[in-house]
Amino acid sequence: RASRLRCAPEIVLPNGNGITEDNLPSARISSSQSPGTREQWLRTDSPVIRRKSNIVKEMEKMKNKREEKRAQLSEIRTKRAQEIDSSCPNWEFARMIREFRANLDCQPISLSDPIEEHRICVCVRKRPLNKQEINKKECDVITVPSKCVLLVHEPKQKVDLTKYLETQTFRFDFSFDECASNEMVYRFTARPLVQTIFEGGKATCFAYGQTGSGKTHTMGGDFSGRAQNASKGIYAFASQDVFFLRSQPRYRSQDLEVYVTFFEIYNGKVFDLLNKKAKLRVLEDGKQQVQVVGLQEKQVCCAEDVIRMIEMGSACRTSGQTFANASSSRSHACFQIILRQRGKLVGKFSLVDLAGNERGADTSSADRQTRMEGAEINKSLLALKECIRALGQNKSHTPFRESKLTQVLRDSFIGTNSRTCMIAMISPGMSSCEYTLNTLRYADRVKELSPHNGGGETQNQMEVEETEMREESSAVFLQLSKDEEEDLSPHLFNFREAMSQIGEREEKVVEQLRELREKMTTELDYLLGITEQPDYDLETFVNRAKYFIEESSRNFLSARGMLILFEAVSTQEVCF
Ligand code: ADP
Ligand code: MG
Repeated sequence: RASRLRCAPEIVLPNGNGITEDNLPSARISSSQSPGTREQWLRTDSPVIRRKSNIVKEMEKMKNKREEKRAQLSEIRTKRAQEIDSSCPNWEFARMIREFRANLDCQPISLSDPIEEHRICVCVRKRPLNKQEINKKECDVITVPSKCVLLVHEPKQKVDLTKYLETQTFRFDFSFDECASNEMVYRFTARPLVQTIFEGGKATCFAYGQTGSGKTHTMGGDFSGRAQNASKGIYAFASQDVFFLRSQPRYRSQDLEVYVTFFEIYNGKVFDLLNKKAKLRVLEDGKQQVQVVGLQEKQVCCAEDVIRMIEMGSACRTSGQTFANASSSRSHACFQIILRQRGKLVGKFSLVDLAGNERGADTSSADRQTRMEGAEINKSLLALKECIRALGQNKSHTPFRESKLTQVLRDSFIGTNSRTCMIAMISPGMSSCEYTLNTLRYADRVKELSPHNGGGETQNQMEVEETEMREESSAVFLQLSKDEEEDLSPHLFNFREAMSQIGEREEKVVEQLRELREKMTTELDYLLGITEQPDYDLETFVNRAKYFIEESSRNFLSARGMLILFEAVSTQEVCF
């Protein structure tokens, strides 16, 4: 009713002749009313009319009040919007990015896009902002305009404090925005490699990026709440496709068996995730064949079997970890699908959830152990990059010995039928911008020298690069600036050499102690066995026991020497 009245301030009211307020409109539009009649009505001072006019006044008052309120509300809303903007620490950048995007026609990757075949495929995936980031009003600095391109809007400031964006463009084989599902990512990255292992080849797929960027989510399965859904990750999708291909007419008659392994490389040591994190030894024979001794290969018959293995391994990986000391972000997890024919290896697909790549750079205040881990991670990631590049260029030399990771995966980096894929994961937030750029530069470097635009490097150039790589690793460890790095270059080389000795020494010490234990228990069992006999020869016993004790003392002293050496090598960084 109020709205009806609002349109007619010079309201015509009924004169009590049966016209009710309810049929007011028809009365109002009635053209039969002459101005005279109207005057008459208004002049009438019947009580009904007076009451009605009071109502009108009331209504008008109410209407005014409402309008006032509405105006107030809208003012509050505008204010609040401004507050949000200015309480967002980077609202100016946020606005610039919004404006940038407004002029962009984004066409993200879709199911209808062709799946391309690459020997080396490098992709990037942006995850969405998470709840905490949204609460902190983090600003999303990543834009994915098309299926191959990704933009980073880097916030910058001029000397006069004017803020501006520096937008950097990266191109990859594929780029996935925050809306892409794990299925979609899988379709264009790991899936095209499944066939390779049926053709007797090796395939590898790496998830690379800083901690929290989505590596485990992509590889192991997405998290709904706290629990991880192991059937929705690349490990599971790839396994499903292996079973699917095996059942196809082409392969059905080949009696192919499928096995999986799941292990973790933490600080240069290998642990079996399918066998209670048993520590495994890596051996290399004269022909450079690398073997992980005792790694359990579990035979699997269907996708459900695989999912159970993934769940078991993932639980083992994260068990006993507190959030503050989560070693899972500092370890590489490797899930392998192995195809065998009557026991003989046919092909192998290694899917690797790499350690977070930020460890080297953000550990300036961390303790020695953490810095050591950082250096180790850095070394392995640099070695990995070099190995993939060597694969892309069909180089005869693969620098696989630089790290345990590349050593263990060595056979996947050689041979004509080896293919690899790297998915660079990035966090969208502005506070991650620097790490994101590092991740993208790394990924860019892997692809940049692919067969299309690489090749033809001399041995010399390669050596220079390898030295750079070593120095880079040590410099990150020592937190040096670029200038310092240049000054210290020769020292760094020695230093890094010493660093790599630590692992070797450690293994030697442990090996020696293991041998000692073996010898001691065997000999002691034997000696004590003699004394159990009713008529044992005392002289033989004494002589043998004396000899045993003397030899053991020498062995213990030698082990002590090894320990001192190990200690010296491992504390070298302090002297430096
Ligand atoms: P990382 O293994 O790189 O350290 P995670 O895979 O554990 O990172 O991801 C960190 C958090 O972000 C997890 O809670 C995960 O569920 C979430 N996350 C990662 N990627 C995505 C994505 N694409 N969509 C939704 N949530 C994601
Ligand atoms: Mg992880």
